[in-house]
Amino acid sequence: MREFIYAANWKMHKTPSEAKVFFEKFIPLLNQKNKKGPNGGVRRVLFFVPALDLFVCEQLTRDHGVDVGGQNIHMELKGAFTGENSAQVLKSIGASWVLVGHSERRSLFSETDLQTGLKMKTAMACGLSAMLCVGESLAEREAKTTIEVVNRQLEAGLLQVSDLVRKSPQQISIAYEPVWAIGTGKVATPEQASEVHQSIRRWLAAKFDATVASEIAILYGGSVKPDNSSSLATMPDIDGFLVGGASLEPESFLGLMA
Ligand code: PEP
Repeated sequence: MREFIYAANWKMHKTPSEAKVFFEKFIPLLNQKNKKGPNGGVRRVLFFVPALDLFVCEQLTRDHGVDVGGQNIHMELKGAFTGENSAQVLKSIGASWVLVGHSERRSLFSETDLQTGLKMKTAMACGLSAMLCVGESLAEREAKTTIEVVNRQLEAGLLQVSDLVRKSPQQISIAYEPVWAIGTGKVATPEQASEVHQSIRRWLAAKFDATVASEIAILYGGSVKPDNSSSLATMPDIDGFLVGGASLEPESFLGLMA
């Protein structure tokens, strides 16, 4: 049984003291929630927080079954890359996860497919769990190239790390995030999301094998809110959510959990 993952992406929000206020309210309420996800698998809760909040967030969450991760890493382990954060530094201050290839990194910071593959490699080699984000733009959906675009992003993100994926598939997860749904209030229908999730699962089975495909969690992201999460959560290939706006307040993030 795959675990069901509720992942928060705080983007560039919250100071360390605001994060403390958040978790002081969030943790006791989380403890009252069902420890299983809607698929019957174990519930995992994790927060992708600004790099400078990681240390504090890890201390506040470590005894409560909540993981924290970074939102980006540089693909090199160290070197003359002013202003960047390495996987090792993030790990040493408490990150156990990292997001790779979020659409805002791709569109606002010109991150390429090739770079996402290199970042996956570095993250996994450093022992971080990596969540690869994929998804089409509105123009790509309208041109009916969604599956082609997602397959290209999967190929770039995962094939350079195929040995590591085979060895430890649980260290990987995929977030399908249609770009037109991120931060727009327009959520994909359960059928639209499910079609792409199933296609991702088939791609994983074809490039790796059925066991690898069945072990990798595939999350949906894009305007997930308490009032639309349950219809998405019941789709068999949706193994969790990556949540931006609705993760910023304890009530709304908890509100989309079972
Ligand atoms: C995201 O940032 O990955 C995201 C899905 O944001 P939102 O939930 O606000 O659409």
